Amino acid sequence: MPKSIILNETHTGHFEDLLRCPICQHTLSLVDRKSLICKNKHCFDLAKQGYVNLLSHGIKSKYNKTLFESRKNLAQSGFFEPLNSKLCDLISSEAKSFDRSLNIVDAGCGEGSNLASIQQKLYQHTGRMPSCVGMDLAKEGIQMAARDFEDSFWCVADLAQCPFVDHAFEVILNILSPANYAEFERILNPDGYVLKVIPEKDYLKELRAVFYAETDREDYTNAKTMELFENHLALTEIVPVHYTRTLAKPLIENLVHMTPLTWGAQEERIDRILKLDSLEITVDLAILVGRKKG
Ligand SMILES: [Zn+2]
Repeated sequence: MPKSIILNETHTGHFEDLLRCPICQHTLSLVDRKSLICKNKHCFDLAKQGYVNLLSHGIKSKYNKTLFESRKNLAQSGFFEPLNSKLCDLISSEAKSFDRSLNIVDAGCGEGSNLASIQQKLYQHTGRMPSCVGMDLAKEGIQMAARDFEDSFWCVADLAQCPFVDHAFEVILNILSPANYAEFERILNPDGYVLKVIPEKDYLKELRAVFYAETDREDYTNAKTMELFENHLALTEIVPVHYTRTLAKPLIENLVHMTPLTWGAQEERIDRILKLDSLEITVDLAILVGRKKG
């Protein structure tokens, strides 16, 4: 029996209303409390871990379990909390203009830590539990999210074929993860907004300095990301998030295993970081706030 996930309980109708078949785009209905089925009989079973795989075809993700476990350990240490607090502030100041609880999707949620933290903070701030959906292409991440965070709906899904109805969400979170703006525009409520978190030039600069000294990856620019965002959405605000954290040994390892910066770095340079007893690391991010163009 699938465990008693939110989809099976009081919120069933609500989450069903947000979903659509990724193959034929018809609505999905929960049948026998264990499968989502459209009228063309495309069927997606709930996994016993409490998530649903809504991929229309198999896709191999390059993100693996080690990466997600490392990311989760780092998140539990509070590494992303200043970012999550800032995202919560932005959402709760807007939430007042809606007379019901918000529908929020985290597109590219990984192992779900950011979304789960933001959901709890919003509940504390506003007294309302937002309806949160986490989606990611990597099954390993979604499995961990469903295991650890039962208050959200988790699905494996492809950003290019989001399994959600038009205008489903008031808030789309997209945190250090690729975007699909055509789909974002489609699933975004006309009064809603996209919060996209991007790295700024000093993000994890201490790693970059060792891994990529004197190569073209030593410096980072997000100019192309900004340009793409503004091609699709009206950029209404840029909120900087800048802080440092001192990491002890186990967390240094987690950081190294979590970040794609490690991919392509020389072993010898990675070892140099792993041998450190302590590392002060810079988190330098920006939150782009975007709305539909008028
Ligand atoms: Zn279908």
